[in-house]
Amino acid sequence: MDVESKYYMFLVRRQPVVIERGEGTRVWDVDGKEYLDFTSGWAVNNVGHANPVVADAIAEQARTLLQTSNQFYTVPQLKLAEILVENSAMDKVFFCNSGTEANEGAIKLARRYGATRRNGAFEIITALNSFHGRTMMNVAATGQPHYQELFQPIPPGFSHVPFDDIEALKGAVTDRTVAIMLEPVQAEGGVNIPSQGYLQNVRDFCDENELLLIFDEVQTGLGRLGTLFGYESFGVEPDIMALAKGLGGGVPIGAFMAKDDACAFVPGDHGSTFGGNALTCAAAHASTKYLIDNDVPANAKRMGDRIQQGLDAIKAKFDVINEVRGMGCLWGMFFESDVSPAVVGACNDAGLLLNPLRPNAVRLMPPLTVSADEIDQAMERLETGIGNALA
Ligand SMILES: *Cc1c(COP(=O)(O)O)cnc(C)c1O
Repeated sequence: MDVESKYYMFLVRRQPVVIERGEGTRVWDVDGKEYLDFTSGWAVNNVGHANPVVADAIAEQARTLLQTSNQFYTVPQLKLAEILVENSAMDKVFFCNSGTEANEGAIKLARRYGATRRNGAFEIITALNSFHGRTMMNVAATGQPHYQELFQPIPPGFSHVPFDDIEALKGAVTDRTVAIMLEPVQAEGGVNIPSQGYLQNVRDFCDENELLLIFDEVQTGLGRLGTLFGYESFGVEPDIMALAKGLGGGVPIGAFMAKDDACAFVPGDHGSTFGGNALTCAAAHASTKYLIDNDVPANAKRMGDRIQQGLDAIKAKFDVINEVRGMGCLWGMFFESDVSPAVVGACNDAGLLLNPLRPNAVRLMPPLTVSADEIDQAMERLETGIGNALA
């Protein structure tokens, strides 16, 4: 911790835990203390820590070939492209290195589409409380002013409307609008689940008005909501979709995918040196195949029901808890006052890692391979932690 404060830019208030290794849902710190990890590296470790299938794929690929650039064909990249396209409603994919970069590509694709097929339309409507990433373009896309204020001027071309409000969305469209970009469930913005029919209404509106629908599935994709892709949980297909987080089983990789009709790029429009790198693609292919072969999204859904029961039971015991809400293995617990730092700290001590979402909210997002016993144990530790935080 002293080394960090001396050398590392101070951008995140870290928990005082130095994690050394992990296995499945558990991690251990340098003192050998064990924790249930309900942060999953920020919704990344969907197939669990140190998943042996992913570890073997990485080790084998590391001994074979790491990097070529997209000047050449490589098999790991194309195996990953095939499994993603064959298991989604999308027709084409491009790989990059993070969620923000996946959205950047999706935004460029929409602008390209507008420039060549929609008479120069370029504006994208996104939602308030959305989170799309940290590049300047995604800071502009993100509907939270505090990410924008100190980085002016931010790129133009975005407008923001309240999430889950179809009339506001309709009212914001102009003849310059080319796309609507949404997270199917807002994650970082507060685990906000749209009401029944909202996403279908957005889809219908897009179809009627020749607008592209972009889903930022960086967090909801790869099983988090209990279906392989979040859009499946709502029965609504986007034209363009961004993925990252859970895609690589822990290695940094992102992707944006599109239906053929939306795929307006021509050679030279976009690119990446590392995007589609053999190592990250081998890991992502192994992780994605593991998710599909073992129907891990179905486990996420079943375990999500158990998490809900556990959280509801804890809520009944503490007046300070206002609400629990979530879906699959993405849950938020909301408090009446700003006790989240105290709760997270006390849960660390009790052996449960949580994500402090807001001063008055915590987020729970375990690996999707989490077991019933692990959830029960996590709920015991959570109850202990909340009790100690309030004591
Ligand atoms: C995390 C996240 C991003 C940004 O991804 P990075 O890999 O951190 O760049 C974008 N969109 C959503 C919905 C996210 O959850």
